[in-house]
Amino acid sequence: MRAMASINGEIVPLAEARIPALDRGFLFGDAVYEVIRVYRGKPFLFEEHLARLRRSLEAIRIPYTDLDGLRRRVLKLIANYGFREAIIYIQITRGSDVTRHHVFPAKVSPLEFFYVEEFEDNLEPMRQQGVAVITYPDLRWDRCDIKSTNLLANVLAAQAAKEAGAYEALLYLPDGTLLEGSRTSCFGVLGGKLLTAPTTPSILPGITRALVLRLAREQGIAVQERVLRLEDLPQVAELFLTGTTSEILPIICVDGKPIGEGRPGPLTRRLQEAYRRLVSAL
Ligand code: PLP
Repeated sequence: MRAMASINGEIVPLAEARIPALDRGFLFGDAVYEVIRVYRGKPFLFEEHLARLRRSLEAIRIPYTDLDGLRRRVLKLIANYGFREAIIYIQITRGSDVTRHHVFPAKVSPLEFFYVEEFEDNLEPMRQQGVAVITYPDLRWDRCDIKSTNLLANVLAAQAAKEAGAYEALLYLPDGTLLEGSRTSCFGVLGGKLLTAPTTPSILPGITRALVLRLAREQGIAVQERVLRLEDLPQVAELFLTGTTSEILPIICVDGKPIGEGRPGPLTRRLQEAYRRLVSAL
């Protein structure tokens, strides 16, 4: 896949991009990131992603403020290299010091790294047929609302799903509260209402999640920001994942047990159609 990177404004092919070994993103995961989908050369929900990046930066006190410059550089790279269907990955780290210390460097100079990579969307059959997921304990920290690069618990959950032959792992707390996937938000239909976890520090406020909530309200679908629990699953009529690259992905089976009738449900279909219309109108 064709991919070009930018490190502090210097453009190189992604395969040749190099980050200093003392960078705190590498040493401590002291960094935040975003992933944005580009459709037909146009970044989708770019402003929403930049706003979340700003919130993440502020939450961990990385003094990087050049979001206008970042927006310009990303758009320029997309235009100059003619990217059409692509993914933008952005990471801002707290930068490097002369040696490894946990505390912030005396003079912080953040590192701006991003790349744009061609994206071949091979998820369409799964969007049509639905996917299987597993449940997995949530081993993450208390600030999952910050989109930080500390993703070890997410990595382990995603790997457990893969090894179980599933697309995703739904993370749950010891009391059975279902929060979200390792890299996706989660919605369910229970008692005729569309439910998704509220935006507390326990979940990432998904950009696709917010869009789907808006689309659902526009469609007159009853919505409630409320968590589902493991014990609700046998009564759940529909379940689906949302995410920047997943878009809206029906779940037809959890831990080997069917959801609803074991096929994508009508509300999921309506929302998928509304999503598609929005992207087509870009
Ligand atoms: N939840 C988690 C934990 C994620 O990592 C992601 C995306 O990376 C999402 C939800 C979905 O967020 P978005 O819709 O902004 O892609």
